[in-house]
Amino acid sequence: MQNPKPGVPTREQIRRAPKVLLHDHLDGGLRPGTVVDLARETGYDALPETDPDKLGTWFREAADSGSLERYLETFAHTCAVMQTRDALFRVAAECAEDLAADGVVYAEVRYAPEQHLEGGLTLEEVVEAVNAGFREGERRAREGGTFRAGGSGGNRIRVGALLTAMRHAARSQEIAQLANAYRDSGVVGFDIAGAEAGYPPTRHLDAFEYLKRENNHFTIHAGEAFGLPSIWQALQWCGADRLGHGVRIIDDIEAGPGGQVSLGRLASYVRDKRVPLEMCPTSNLQTGAASSYADHPIGLLRRLYFRVTVNTDNRLMSGTSLSLEFEHLVEAFGYTLDDMQWFTVNAMKSAFIPFDERLAMINEVIKPGYAELKAEWLFDQTTAERPLASGSAVGEG
Ligand SMILES: [Zn+2]
Repeated sequence: MQNPKPGVPTREQIRRAPKVLLHDHLDGGLRPGTVVDLARETGYDALPETDPDKLGTWFREAADSGSLERYLETFAHTCAVMQTRDALFRVAAECAEDLAADGVVYAEVRYAPEQHLEGGLTLEEVVEAVNAGFREGERRAREGGTFRAGGSGGNRIRVGALLTAMRHAARSQEIAQLANAYRDSGVVGFDIAGAEAGYPPTRHLDAFEYLKRENNHFTIHAGEAFGLPSIWQALQWCGADRLGHGVRIIDDIEAGPGGQVSLGRLASYVRDKRVPLEMCPTSNLQTGAASSYADHPIGLLRRLYFRVTVNTDNRLMSGTSLSLEFEHLVEAFGYTLDDMQWFTVNAMKSAFIPFDERLAMINEVIKPGYAELKAEWLFDQTTAERPLASGSAVGEG
């Protein structure tokens, strides 16, 4: 008997498959209706649209425009309405609920506390409001319906926070200390984000060295717009555990016309050391880091067994979800449930929670979920491959 290979998943199966998300921005994932509500409640009158549908479209178009100014304007609006405890709590709770409804079982969601101080909150109050919101969203998801493969007791999700410091600002040391202070209460790591050009991660060496001394974890946005030097610095100077995007590692890989591939020193290092790459395909298309899903470096990097993970980046600005990202990849590369499981296990292995908890998620949530979906596929396949003739032969035998 041939070894059956599970086929291409349907849209519904992609949604029901347990998924893991490591790169998602809290201020990039609000529901458009929530932006409108919060603007009204807080007296913010600078939104370009007040109809939720039109506003959602505006966000996607601004992010698609290729103009950095318009792209940054989108975050000015979302951050503007996230300046109170209640607003942060609501946005975080809805984030956890939305991810759970999309079949995400584990997520690390990041935000920059320093961008939420305009209403008078302290950094600690920001972190506590977001943490409380995540716990509320997890609770609502748990009490909601069950649709996920292998799921029981609602759509369970676990959400950890990553605290981001902005590259252009000078608060990274303070934010790193904040991440460390809350490491046993909901914060799983640290990140650095913002425009790469002119602001190399080495500007924030103190923060990274501090976190290393504290045995804490961090990821760095690198190799998105900027090339190999930013990846090299993030890894070899700063000591990042993971790379946010990292797509430009492709510049250190030469693919010949005959399909032969050779890796440069840095690409080899990234693959050999199993450095997790937090890839965000749709976001990369919007920023021009890739020209189409089919041309996205994730295809080659997956074939070469880099530690690739699939992520959303900014769900509102990209009009996306983790399921939708997988749909695009399935369409572009013909990925199967086995591929999806591979990406998902990669992501879970690369999470910042303790090893035993990652292993339990893989063995007790992810693998059973995919096994159930593959079993469905096998039964469907059996039915499809037995047309009437064989069925009636058995019946009349
Ligand atoms: Zn990002």
